[in-house]
Amino acid sequence: MSITPPRRTKIVATLGPASSHEDVLREMILAGVDIVRMNMSHGSPEDHAKRVDLVRRLADEANRFVAILVDLQGPKIRISRFKNKKITLKKGDAFILDAGLGIEDGDQQRVGIDYKELVNDVSAGDTLLLDDGRMVLTVTEVSGQQIHTRVETDGELSNNKGINRQGGGLSAKALTDKDKADIKIAAQFEADYVAMSFPRSAEDIEECRTLLAEAGSNAGIVAKIERVEAVENIDEIVRASDVVMVARGDLGVEIGDAELPAVQKHIVTQARHLDRGVIVATQMMESMIDSPIPTRAEVFDVANAVLDGTDAVMLSAETAVGVNPPNVIRSMARVCQGAEKQPRSRLSRHRMDDKFDNAEEGIAMASMYLANHMPVKAIIALTESGGTPIWMSRIRSGIPIFAVSRRLSTCRRLAMYRGVFPHLYDYAAVPEEEVNRSVLNYLRDHHWLDDGDLVILTRGDQIGEGGGTNVLKLLRVGAVFQANNS
Ligand code: ATP
Ligand code: MG
Ligand code: MG
Repeated sequence: MSITPPRRTKIVATLGPASSHEDVLREMILAGVDIVRMNMSHGSPEDHAKRVDLVRRLADEANRFVAILVDLQGPKIRISRFKNKKITLKKGDAFILDAGLGIEDGDQQRVGIDYKELVNDVSAGDTLLLDDGRMVLTVTEVSGQQIHTRVETDGELSNNKGINRQGGGLSAKALTDKDKADIKIAAQFEADYVAMSFPRSAEDIEECRTLLAEAGSNAGIVAKIERVEAVENIDEIVRASDVVMVARGDLGVEIGDAELPAVQKHIVTQARHLDRGVIVATQMMESMIDSPIPTRAEVFDVANAVLDGTDAVMLSAETAVGVNPPNVIRSMARVCQGAEKQPRSRLSRHRMDDKFDNAEEGIAMASMYLANHMPVKAIIALTESGGTPIWMSRIRSGIPIFAVSRRLSTCRRLAMYRGVFPHLYDYAAVPEEEVNRSVLNYLRDHHWLDDGDLVILTRGDQIGEGGGTNVLKLLRVGAVFQANNS
């Protein structure tokens, strides 16, 4: 009997001190992590480089494709530091954010700001949220370099805390000098994806793509949706990027937590509708930073993201600094599989009423329609760049999409997409008339298919050319069949 791939939804895990040891990483890969994330806001480039090398080697040993995602820090909109590290504020206190103050000179009355332009971005009446919303300040007056505020909540304020403006509208550029340097590092890592923090528009994404190309990388771009402006411009940002991330941390602070669930559903739907990938991120299994089991609420959160149709779910501190990263991955995998059993996660009316101007896309849609309406065991897409299987995976279905490519980079990129299972196989080395059969035999010999299975195979007539899928065949594994083009 052949193996059915057990889980369609993909898992992204952030690496950090808790997931740097070879044994831990090996266990994480065996537990099924599909994408590892390096957060350039934390840790040194040397440590990230070591983890990259380890992941590549261990994935190879485990015979799995694991994509590497380099997450750029983006603009730091933060306060500077206090003489005594932290202060305690009381509701009603007056407090000044002072762009003219030295970076170490904060006291009970005022603190410096790293982001000097803040004085131009705010005005009286605005609400500023510091430290992910834990400290709330109302702007009473802006004069020169100083933003005068009134404290709205009792609490502590310590060094370098982040600042958000309720409703968005901070003008900081998305790519900083550090990000530009980190793009070069990502190219050296041969990163499969680069994530951009705080993009506001398609233009921001284009700039990132140009810099990546200049650095010699064709990594996919993940746009982190974490600003009000990005939600407003969601369609153009989705179109400009390869994958979008619902980055619920900063996003929740800017738009308010009550808005998050509806926005998450909207972003997931739009990404799939516009043929792009999507990741749901932040605090998905937060309690597992130090607990062996998730809370019920976390189980529901992960399952609901799966039912929304996300490609991937993400772990942050749970795997970067948590007590047992492999255990978190196993829990998340289990919850994803449970949710995928819901019939709802397999039904689709994706673009049923749309017209296509591209043969590849048309073939992808036709295969999925066929697969969802005939007793088909699997779809096999021979692909150079990965385009056809990505289109296929935009349609909900319970049928595995085996993406067969002779390019390692394509196999790794495809690790991101729901229901797509990459296989590295050099079909171009086989005589033209034997390609179809050799691919089926390869999958059968590796126990993904059985003799007698009905499958759909898509390919181009001209093997070896990207963007050429124009053939759809219904084939039976093990059956003797005629030359490909008959
Ligand atoms: P972002 O806004 O980009 O998500 P973050 O600060 O929330 O940034 P995460 O990647 O979400 O960071 O990780 C959660 C926490 O895990 C971080 O706040 C940090 O404490 C820790 N962490 C993550 N990566 C590393 C690392 N490489 N080294 C040390 N700590 C890390
Ligand atoms: Mg960030
Ligand atoms: Mg985070």
